[in-house]
Amino acid sequence: MFLKAVRAARRAEGTPRPDDFSIITAPLPDPGPGEVVVANEYLSVDPYMREFMALGGWELGYGLEGRAIGRVIASTVADLPEGAFVAHRHGWSTHARLTPAELRVITEYEGVPASAHLGLLGGTGLTAWVGLTRVARVRPGDDVFVSTAAGAVGGAAGQFARLLGARRVVGSTGSPAKVGHVVGTLGFAAAFDYHDGLAEGLARVAPDGVDVYFDNVGGAHLEAAIDVLREFGRVAWCGAIAQYATLADPPPAPRNLYDVVGKSLRLEGFLVRRNLDARPELEDFAVPRIRSGDLVVDETVVDGFDRLPEAFLGLLRGENTGKMLVRL
Ligand code: NAP
Repeated sequence: MFLKAVRAARRAEGTPRPDDFSIITAPLPDPGPGEVVVANEYLSVDPYMREFMALGGWELGYGLEGRAIGRVIASTVADLPEGAFVAHRHGWSTHARLTPAELRVITEYEGVPASAHLGLLGGTGLTAWVGLTRVARVRPGDDVFVSTAAGAVGGAAGQFARLLGARRVVGSTGSPAKVGHVVGTLGFAAAFDYHDGLAEGLARVAPDGVDVYFDNVGGAHLEAAIDVLREFGRVAWCGAIAQYATLADPPPAPRNLYDVVGKSLRLEGFLVRRNLDARPELEDFAVPRIRSGDLVVDETVVDGFDRLPEAFLGLLRGENTGKMLVRL
């Protein structure tokens, strides 16, 4: 038996290209003492991988860490038998050889698709949950603005905010079709295509301002949001996808940053990996709502391991709605 894995073949400059990656084949290892071998079923592609390509963490000739879920197919660990369903971070490969410390056993919930453990119940959903409940501390009646509203974290944040009692949830996204998706499928009150102008879009969807901004984009989006935040507003700064391709040459800070003082705003960045203890709260909240259909499991699934780089590049180009996944 063989495994396949993606390797970094070229140092990406600007927008990554297909030939930045290569796919290698190698014999499938047996598990050593205290190890399991997992056959991956779904792999996640994520914007932070672009940061790794720019800043290091993904060296030439090596594979990339990436979130994956799969089943144990060989084991020398008594309590991790064949068939155990696990999540780990050794993705971008068809298989992974892991110790128990490198994986998390997944609780499978009836009525919840397996893939949701990389999306709404995985790091994606946890990011949205932590940003809203621990950082922005969304309260019933808040008006909330979410950027990358049709994306994985953004779509989760918008849906969660509505279900947490926000008064109005509005979003920005990258195309008219995505605007329709965000409003029609994910239940946002309104959305706009940011290519048509941020100030104009926000004035249209949130003419009276907002209390919370969930920022996935940074740069001009953050500046526009500061303009429309009400006094004592809160920003959960989650990501800056507009900047990842040019991290060495970042844009100037939002020109209105000093309004943080004038409006008594709170702007707080966070990393989901510092908040992994929130997972049980997320599962208590999300599992019944996925089962009831109140939460939409929104995914774009690309089939076939060899299409992993293509899925990643598509994500950066905005070809996804919801969580971008590769199914093996
Ligand atoms: P995603 O939103 O599903 O996919 C990325 C989306 O970004 C694309 O679909 C594209 O949609 C949009 N985009 C690309 N370039 C853009 C630009 N220049 N301006 C505005 N939008 C752009 O990805 P995700 O996994 O959910 O991640 C969303 C954000 O959360 C990222 O910034 C990521 O780094 C961050 N994040 C942070 C944490 C944390 O711990 N803090 C954890 C996970 C993710 P459009 O069609 O709308 O352009």
